[in-house]
Amino acid sequence: MTILKTIAALLLFNNTLYAQQSLPWKGKKCAVVLTYDDGLDVHITNALPALDSLGLKATFYIANYMGGLQKQVPGWRAAAAKGHELANHTMFHPCEGGRAGREFVNADYDMNNYSMRRITNEIKAMNAVLYAIDAKTTRTFAFPCGDNKVHDTAYIDTMHDEFIAARGVVGTIPTIDKVNLYDFPGYGVFNHTGEAMIEWVKEAEAKQGLLVIIFHGVGGGHNINVSLPAHSQLLHYLKQHEKDIWIAPLAQVAKWVKEKQGK
Ligand SMILES: [Zn+2]
Repeated sequence: MTILKTIAALLLFNNTLYAQQSLPWKGKKCAVVLTYDDGLDVHITNALPALDSLGLKATFYIANYMGGLQKQVPGWRAAAAKGHELANHTMFHPCEGGRAGREFVNADYDMNNYSMRRITNEIKAMNAVLYAIDAKTTRTFAFPCGDNKVHDTAYIDTMHDEFIAARGVVGTIPTIDKVNLYDFPGYGVFNHTGEAMIEWVKEAEAKQGLLVIIFHGVGGGHNINVSLPAHSQLLHYLKQHEKDIWIAPLAQVAKWVKEKQGK
């Protein structure tokens, strides 16, 4: 190789390195976080095998309002061992009732009937359960129904020691400087097609932003659902574009955002 060719090769290498370093999400264009809410059995039977077959890691927001948690413990423990995040979605999934569309809220678990101590104790108890399963100390939270207040008080403000971040239900694709650690966005999946979800990912790539996707049912298990083929199509797209897309659990993405924002 001539000296000129060597210099040209070095310059090219430097440029590639520089381009990667300047990309905001661990050297990639965008970040995608796959989250699964409510601790459903189908997360263990349907979602995890699909994720694991491609080596993709996700976040599972576990609650126990249906009473199935004890039976799920071996499944969650295996998921944590594979690198998935077991995350907190409260014990009983309290939401604000008393308004249109909230007829499903039971008075016992109506946030209007909660106190600050009750909600924070319930969440801390769930953290203790999750710690007993996975022994992790860094964890994230998701607001049930996106409701983040008890009688006008934002309860997460007193819980920063418990969580590195919290996720809401507002669908935006922020750049890294615009991410609020305790108000991560979330795009809710309501029977979307694979193509529709892939469009969100393409938008995140174009904006060099963060996309958080919220699943409930996967191939059934909840009235808010995604079909198995649509779920699989999205996962395969992500896998094929892993070179440009950082796919990681919310706790890892939050840690990166925190570092980059200098907090
Ligand atoms: Zn939920």
